Amino acid sequence: MALVTMKEILEDADKRGYGVGAFNINNLEFLKAIVQAGEEEKSPLIIAVSEGAMKYAGVEYLSEIVKIAAKNASIPIALHLDHGKHFEKIMATLRNGFTSVMIDASDKPYEENVKLTSEIVKIAHAMGVTVEAELGRLLGKEDEVQSDVAIYTDPQDAKRFVEETGVDALAVAVGTSHGAYKFKGEAKLDIERIKKIKELVSIPLVLHGASGVPAHITKGLKEVGVDLKSAKGVPEEEIKKAIGAGIRKINIDTDLRLSFLLGVRRYMAENPTTFDPRKYLGAGMEIVKDTVKSKIQLFGSANKA
Ligand SMILES: [Zn+2]
Repeated sequence: MALVTMKEILEDADKRGYGVGAFNINNLEFLKAIVQAGEEEKSPLIIAVSEGAMKYAGVEYLSEIVKIAAKNASIPIALHLDHGKHFEKIMATLRNGFTSVMIDASDKPYEENVKLTSEIVKIAHAMGVTVEAELGRLLGKEDEVQSDVAIYTDPQDAKRFVEETGVDALAVAVGTSHGAYKFKGEAKLDIERIKKIKELVSIPLVLHGASGVPAHITKGLKEVGVDLKSAKGVPEEEIKKAIGAGIRKINIDTDLRLSFLLGVRRYMAENPTTFDPRKYLGAGMEIVKDTVKSKIQLFGSANKA
């Protein structure tokens, strides 16, 4: 089928109370692994492309392969821009048929965030494209997005922001962070805050920085010489609670990167003279696929397509 909007996918998730994964891609290998997992689990999918991915692979290449994937798939797939920071980048994704964009002006003062977000909403909605915005600030680093401070989303501000901008989905800061090193102490999310925001805001809520950094992956990586030391992700129980409190879109990037690396490194360790890229990239894809399947089961989106 053709690409669907993210709004369509998240509205069903909201109605039936489950979460949908937004999985980041930079190339064909990740896309194929994610779509295979979605097909096997009969789950809707959000494919996310960051400005960094656009720089690496080119927005035309990425949008075309995702359109082909959607055309051949039996599950609904949305193509989403993750952390749109630059007006011209956002316009480039709209020209290339993305069905959803995120405008991230969360590092700007409130009024400026409202102004920039509203501008994108006006243009994107005229084209039938979903818009996600962010209020509050996440710690950590992801591509071009970086922050050394965490500012949790204020529920009253969230209500006002959604009314003033007309966005379709809102990313909230409730204790997660970008990257593989999310928590120094106890790994906990502010679930009460999610509940309060959900009470006041009628649109689907989004959790960024939600990778779990699974122990079987870090253990596997250690065996092949990649020691991530203090890396710590969001525990599965916290993700479940967050979905129970009203989170509908869960962003996963780090876990896929770690999974792919494990597949490739393990394959290369076991087959040191192999130079056929289809062999070691294929091994990376296998683990990405397994990880996406386990996320789909955790988020509750299996058999919802
Ligand atoms: Zn993010």
